[in-house]
Amino acid sequence: MNNRIVVLGGGESGVGAAVLAKVKGFDVFLSDKGKIEDKYVEMLEQWEIPFEQGGHTEDLILNASEVIKSPGIPSTVPLVKKIEAAGIGIVSEIEFAGRYDNAKKICITGSNGKTTTTSLIYYLLQEAGLNVGLGGNIGKSYALQVATEHYDYYVLEISSFQLDNCYEFRPDIAVITNITPDHLDRYGYDMENYVRAKFRIIRNLRPEDCFIFDSDDEITINHLDKIVTEAKKLPFTQKDKVEQGAYIEDDRIIVKYEDEECDIFLKELALGGIHNVYNSMAAALAAKATGIDNAVIRESLETFKPIEHRLEPVMSVGGVLYINDSKATNVDAAWYALECQTRPVVWIVGGTDKGNDYKVLESLVREKVKAIVCLGVDNSKIHEAFESVVGKENIKDTMSAEEAVRTSAGFAGDGDVVLLSPCCASFDLFTCYEDRGEQFKAAVRKL
Ligand code: ADP
Repeated sequence: MNNRIVVLGGGESGVGAAVLAKVKGFDVFLSDKGKIEDKYVEMLEQWEIPFEQGGHTEDLILNASEVIKSPGIPSTVPLVKKIEAAGIGIVSEIEFAGRYDNAKKICITGSNGKTTTTSLIYYLLQEAGLNVGLGGNIGKSYALQVATEHYDYYVLEISSFQLDNCYEFRPDIAVITNITPDHLDRYGYDMENYVRAKFRIIRNLRPEDCFIFDSDDEITINHLDKIVTEAKKLPFTQKDKVEQGAYIEDDRIIVKYEDEECDIFLKELALGGIHNVYNSMAAALAAKATGIDNAVIRESLETFKPIEHRLEPVMSVGGVLYINDSKATNVDAAWYALECQTRPVVWIVGGTDKGNDYKVLESLVREKVKAIVCLGVDNSKIHEAFESVVGKENIKDTMSAEEAVRTSAGFAGDGDVVLLSPCCASFDLFTCYEDRGEQFKAAVRKL
């Protein structure tokens, strides 16, 4: 067997994986069908890694001993099929990097709350003075860090696409925040496939490892009933009491891990909304299982700063608070965003629909939303779902962030909230959710 590694995709994870393969002495080649960003071209040149862009040359790929595939490339594309047919193994960047990393790993997946929970856990470990790296879907590639840095711990946000090509990878602590329908297009519109993909995160856990999960989430619990895991199970719940795990008692979160117990006052939590109570519970459990002191856990959960584009307060203009929740790209995320609002809401919603069922939002919209501003190319489903709820005259269509903000300002009065929580992907009018959030904030600042 030769030692040729071919990396498909020249983004953050692909280039990171290529650098690690180079450092480990492989003959590396990177191929990208599109254009590679300048900063990554520079990195490849600096590390003397041969690459191509603007197309794949099959002869240079099908001679690999192993292929590292970027998570953005679906496994259904013809080239991937050919690689499989040639009997060449395909792994993800996470799987590859995990082979060369002895650090303790806390890995987070789920449908919503991954970035928030990952950032919380990273902050907790940093505040505890541990030598910790942050990676996966966030920030710098995990593989690049394994190649060029040394950490005792990693906190990794891992999407289900990255898990698809993981086989031997083993976290020490695995977290599934929750599972709700999202990205079903990549899983043959089969929920069971999507759930199984998320659960790959626990497949290699040993008895000394921990599995942290939301036991109020029926999909998670139903699947857990069907499988066997040796890991220590640490549920978090806002409905029940648990022997080991996290739950609510009066005005506090109680965290129980082995013989230890930690309590945190709900009103002290830095992040508002019941979804963030779940995220804070998951983070506190991960911290406790890492052996972090109660005082550090409490203080960190109190001092954590909200992350951009996730229920991020932008500013108040004329008594109206503008909130940027551009990252809410599915119905469940928007549900939580609406749920935690205590003031009348002008709701900016819309974009690329991923097969949304808006019915679940109906009662929240009736209770909290005074007007709806659609921000998308095709808003017909939103009109259909909510015209009878807020009244035809209170739904308007807009085609830019600026128009949406101006229209919202027209609906909103003193004491109201304008909430961008779109339920949809952003690709019809924006390049990505960050772009949508930035344009929203810029428009608010212009008011
Ligand atoms: P992810 O990385 O999984 O996309 P984020 O932490 O970036 O998750 O949050 C994405 C969106 O989901 C935000 O709009 C946020 O308000 C909402 N959200 C965060 N945590 C949760 C949760 N535990 N359950 C449901 N929605 C959540």
